[in-house]
Amino acid sequence: MGLKISGVTAYHLPGTRYPWVFVRIEAENGMYGIGQVSSGPNSPVVAAAASRLGPLLVGEDASRIEYLWYKLYTSFSSLGSLGFVSALISGVDIALWDLRGKELGLPVYELLGGAYREKLLLYSNGWFSGCVTPDDFGRAAKRTVDEGHTALKLDPFKQHKHDFQKHGAGYDAADEAHAAEIVRAIRETVGQGVEILIDAHGRFDVPTAVRLANLIAPYRIGWFEEPVPPENPDALEQFRQRSPVPVCVGERLYTRWQFRPILEKKLAEYIMPDVIRTGGISELRRIATMAEAFFVPVSPHDATGPITLVAGAQTMMATANFYRLEIAYSELEQYNRAMTPAFDVRGGYFHVSDRPGLGHDLREDYLAQAIPF
Ligand SMILES: [Mg+2]
Repeated sequence: MGLKISGVTAYHLPGTRYPWVFVRIEAENGMYGIGQVSSGPNSPVVAAAASRLGPLLVGEDASRIEYLWYKLYTSFSSLGSLGFVSALISGVDIALWDLRGKELGLPVYELLGGAYREKLLLYSNGWFSGCVTPDDFGRAAKRTVDEGHTALKLDPFKQHKHDFQKHGAGYDAADEAHAAEIVRAIRETVGQGVEILIDAHGRFDVPTAVRLANLIAPYRIGWFEEPVPPENPDALEQFRQRSPVPVCVGERLYTRWQFRPILEKKLAEYIMPDVIRTGGISELRRIATMAEAFFVPVSPHDATGPITLVAGAQTMMATANFYRLEIAYSELEQYNRAMTPAFDVRGGYFHVSDRPGLGHDLREDYLAQAIPF
């Protein structure tokens, strides 16, 4: 038996590109746990939905994390429980693990089987702010490697804006050479000992993804991420047959059930679940174990807020088939304006706190900046 849940509060707070949504699960003894729900331009809608979960949770035993995961999952099954709903579940699940850790006085990774490793190897994203020319990217890459990073991610296809009209679309041939030059400049600057990870953001149709991946393959790409949109694994299979580059997918796959065909059809060398979308710490753990049977490493996605980073980190501390943890380097400052204590990121590693629960809380001065929803 654990603590009884007495309340659920949602917070809509300043983020980076969009506001972030957090959820707090309160217990009747005054303790609480915090989680984050994936959001974007939809953040007011997500916050409103998260704020209405009380009737499903109040009065329940907060230690029954697995039971409550299924209670929420099946409550929405007539609408489809993947995506929006698995994101809501993620926030609650993370908050329940945080609360349970605080109640028992242990960090979450101790509840998951204990530390498999001492610290988590990172890969850096967002290190290229302000870069335009290939030389700019080369210089920024060198700076990042000099700080201790050993893997760099970027989307070199920056002329291709995030645009709903370009979901599964082509890419202007005129921009291709520029993208390839950026990757060449990075490889030439950092040498062979650094991983270059390419993010295609799931925007291309099959022929375009194949053409772009093969264009940059000579620069030894660590992975080509989301070559095609996530809706159709068969399109990814078609890409696989026509390109030699390693693939990583998963930031827009929800729960073990959407990772199953990726693993069974051998469509990716790496998977990258997002802990605040795919079903929380419980589900990230299950997906990692499933991938372990295929000898596929796991690399949690982070583009969406501070609890994404720390909940993924806590899980990976206790996970054998961990590869690297993504850190949105450009967002770290904002993460640390939201959280106390600040995250310990040094020399290309994330050092996970041994304080109870997630080890970090939302700052009071940050909570005071709540945005109406
Ligand atoms: Mg991505």
